[in-house]
Amino acid sequence: MAKNLTRRGFVHGGLGLGLGSMGLASLPIGTRLRAQTVELPLVITSHANATGREAMRQSWEILAGGGSALDAVERGANVIEVDPEDFSVGMAGLPNEHGVVQLDASIMDGRTYSAGSVASLEKIVTPSSVARLVMERTDHVMLVGPGALDFAKSFGFEEVELLTPEAREIWLRWREHHSDQDDWGPPDHLRGRAEGLDRDAARDAGPLGLDLTGSIEHHYGTTNVLAVDASGDVAGITTTSGLSWKVNGRVGDSPIIGAGLYVDNSVGAAGATGRGEDVIKSCASHYIVMRMREGRSPQEACEDAIEMIVGRYRAVGLDFVPEEKFVAINKAGEYGCAWMGIDGVPSMTVRTPASLDVFEGTSLYGPA
Ligand code: ASP
Repeated sequence: MAKNLTRRGFVHGGLGLGLGSMGLASLPIGTRLRAQTVELPLVITSHANATGREAMRQSWEILAGGGSALDAVERGANVIEVDPEDFSVGMAGLPNEHGVVQLDASIMDGRTYSAGSVASLEKIVTPSSVARLVMERTDHVMLVGPGALDFAKSFGFEEVELLTPEAREIWLRWREHHSDQDDWGPPDHLRGRAEGLDRDAARDAGPLGLDLTGSIEHHYGTTNVLAVDASGDVAGITTTSGLSWKVNGRVGDSPIIGAGLYVDNSVGAAGATGRGEDVIKSCASHYIVMRMREGRSPQEACEDAIEMIVGRYRAVGLDFVPEEKFVAINKAGEYGCAWMGIDGVPSMTVRTPASLDVFEGTSLYGPA
């Protein structure tokens, strides 16, 4: 399937791939939803594609057998991390500016108020499991870069090449397109620049058949997996390859506790995807959980975070709407999601005792 990479946007379980929604009909931007209530246990992922469904199926096996929310979210996150067709997480994640895949992940166990994370981790396909070991086998919360890799190897994790041929092809095309001043791409005499033609015109589809014509901008994409088990304990994971083509060493929000993920066993959990810089500045996941603590539903709390972020920019005279998606669950079995600055409607896969379904949340502040 041709995958068009010509616009900045989210990577949902394989560029351009995804199941049709089986949830609510699409709602216009600004529509507010009532809270969704279900029986426990509950597990959700922000991935609403086939891999997200498989992740929820496997997480559910654990929860239905009386297992913990912590084990369930790890299993679900691992399913998405190893998917070689998903360009946003783990294996096949889109790389940084140098073509190196650097992964970020975090985990929280509400039952013990514990957290762990890794950042800029290379060559390990399941960073969320490494984050779990940081949480459970050290007195620290966060390990980064070569230290995180050493730590993972000491526990027997194998180093693998995470940059798949497809992801490399996409990165190479980005490198050729990211400036009209540099020397990447076909020689000038073959691409028509000497004749004053559009430099891009001489660049065609890559050998793998991807539709890579046009410019290739940065892409967001991450997964959040959140669960409440039958005992009422809450856990969550956020895992990502981060912003594509990021500056070498850049760390996003996903491994920052309170930004890309937060869990409070007496309330629920929240996770974020999208422009990490804004999620870090706003401590968005912590904010969402605190809003739920004050009585807001997960859906309302996700929307509150959007209003808070947009409001902060407006307070300093800026009309800026970052592309971000939030998902949240609470201990009562309610869930919600919302995004801003993005076309369409945000969705997530939800597994409850009643069903495995795709839920569509609300879209606020659509793209300009
Ligand atoms: N939030 C992630 C980051 O900023 C990106 C993403 O969701 O793709 O690293």
